Amino acid sequence: MFPSVLIANRGEIACRVIRTARRLGLRTIAVHSDADADALFVRMADEAHRIGPAPARESYLVGERILEVARATGAACIHPGYGFLSENAEFAEACQRAGVVFVGPPASAIRAMGLKDAAKSLVERAGVPVVPGYHGPKQEPAFLRERAANIGFPVLIKAVAGGGGKGMRRVDRLIDFEEALQGAQREAANAFGDPRVLVEKYVRSPRHVEVQVFADGHGNVVHLFERDCSLQRRHQKVIEEAPAPGMPPEVRAAMGRAAVEAARAVGYVGAGTVEFIADGSQGLRPDGFFFMEMNTRLQVEHPVTEAITGLDLVELQLRVAAGERLPFGQGDLAIDGHAVEARLYAEDPEKGFLPSTGRLWALRFPKGEGIRVDTGVEQGSAVTPWYDPMIAKIIAHGATRDEALDRLSAALGDTLVAGPRSNAAFLRRLADAPGFRSGAFDTGFIERNLEALGAVPHPVDPAAVAAAALALVSAERSRIASAVGTAPGWSSPWDQADAFQTAGPRRDVLPLVVEGERLDVVLGWSETGAVVHGAGGEDEPATIVVTDEGLIVLSGGRQAAVALFDPLSQSADDADGGGTIKAPMHGKVVAVFVTEGQAVEKGQRLAIVEAMKMEHALVAPRAGTVGEVAVAAGQQVSEGAKVVVIADAEGL
Ligand code: ADP
Repeated sequence: MFPSVLIANRGEIACRVIRTARRLGLRTIAVHSDADADALFVRMADEAHRIGPAPARESYLVGERILEVARATGAACIHPGYGFLSENAEFAEACQRAGVVFVGPPASAIRAMGLKDAAKSLVERAGVPVVPGYHGPKQEPAFLRERAANIGFPVLIKAVAGGGGKGMRRVDRLIDFEEALQGAQREAANAFGDPRVLVEKYVRSPRHVEVQVFADGHGNVVHLFERDCSLQRRHQKVIEEAPAPGMPPEVRAAMGRAAVEAARAVGYVGAGTVEFIADGSQGLRPDGFFFMEMNTRLQVEHPVTEAITGLDLVELQLRVAAGERLPFGQGDLAIDGHAVEARLYAEDPEKGFLPSTGRLWALRFPKGEGIRVDTGVEQGSAVTPWYDPMIAKIIAHGATRDEALDRLSAALGDTLVAGPRSNAAFLRRLADAPGFRSGAFDTGFIERNLEALGAVPHPVDPAAVAAAALALVSAERSRIASAVGTAPGWSSPWDQADAFQTAGPRRDVLPLVVEGERLDVVLGWSETGAVVHGAGGEDEPATIVVTDEGLIVLSGGRQAAVALFDPLSQSADDADGGGTIKAPMHGKVVAVFVTEGQAVEKGQRLAIVEAMKMEHALVAPRAGTVGEVAVAAGQQVSEGAKVVVIADAEGL
């Protein structure tokens, strides 16, 4: 085994690799950007070295900097994690030249599978079924449009260099093709520096079933069964599980064989995943699945495979990279129970799952039988706009699928995130959703059930506001006393030590700012304590977290930021009745569709802001006239920056 490993990654996967490496007795070497100087993985590693500023292309993507650290520290091998340089063939070769082992497949295998078009052709020759479509070199819009028409709608446009669902567009009608093509190419060029796309048939009732393969350098290739990753949003995985629900043994065997064939076709070594798309309309069938791509690295969702096989995939990766043989054959492997993983993200399901950044003012992860949490953050850490906003992976293992899902649901209920918005409550509803529980779901399940899953805008919960109002009163008693003229000596229900002395009923107005909006709460005083009027709502237990700017109230899986209203700090933009459209987060304006003086309809697209490599369309909240365009395409904008102002028609 190697004496040391350098982890060329960050966050939860860096922590995950360090854990196993340490158990195996390796010295662990971390590399980090300026944004991660205080990160958990940096503190966990035996040593840590700065490689550059926050942007990944100036730090985690600079192979030469990482190799300099490897040379200086004498690292025996480099584990690339997932993302960043993990599927970069040039980096794998550079490692070899530098005399440090790349923990991953040979550069030739990465290259062969690196582009979806070439990979499809290659495995097709090896007898693996692929989705019908065009995966050739021609990129002229008119040509691709014609091919799409021949394939038959709906079709899927995919970036050949794609990953993470970026540069991908489903097209249902011929007339929408060109616009979708442009969007896909733009996103692909931005994310991968390669605008090329392929077009393929969109499989109906699609289920994403992938097979974990493992190969050693001695010609042994096995599969570690499948994972079902059909719960997706915008082609990105949300919940993954192993094994796939409703998987007949003969289909498992056929898929496993196809995956092993695909791996053999490229001389694979190490951990890899062969992704298939299955037509789930009539259940999983031996002739109903097609190769999509092979990921030549460890997957985010590898813990569910670890749970059902009892194996440590990072340990196996390190052993295989060190030249050892796989310690088992296909016949030695069996499935133990069922495992599910939920990706806990800093994002706002009520606002189209927009990534949400900021300090984690409070953070609590679940514990319990069969529960595993992989994370790279802790309370007090910040979710920054620089990297993927994943907070943690919550993994539950049980004897049956229902037991695993029950455990996951309870674990998500015990999860607390304050500061950035999180999808914890959304994930919990998903884990409990009858349609998902039944096993009869496909990749469109989330999109079809957004409302039932709570992923639509909701007004602020009045009960939560009430709780915050009382907490504010309690915490800032003297200030409130002078602000609203309350007689000294009253008490809130949270301050039972003080005797309540106010005589007779009275009411005071407490001016608040809730989620950026002015809201006056009427506090009444009675013999029994303070009462909040006009708040209503149920008696949900609320958790109150104190921040620099006020309070965060968490209740029913939602959060609201509440502060006392300060008349001096309000900007003029807030008084325009919602006509100012602001950037939802730090990002880059990639397109502006309107000009000053133009009339717009409600819902009309005004501009596109790209953040975290995804495009977000900004639309008109109501009909009116464009009063101001404050940005230009290509410009960087910070969160909350003015983009467009819509004036009322009569206001001009
Ligand atoms: P990426 O590399 O960007 O993750 P994939 O090729 O793995 O892209 O596809 C991502 C997801 O898109 C799949 O899991 C699946 O849900 C959906 N998808 C891909 N190809 C098809 C298809 N031909 N028909 C229907 N859905 C598809």
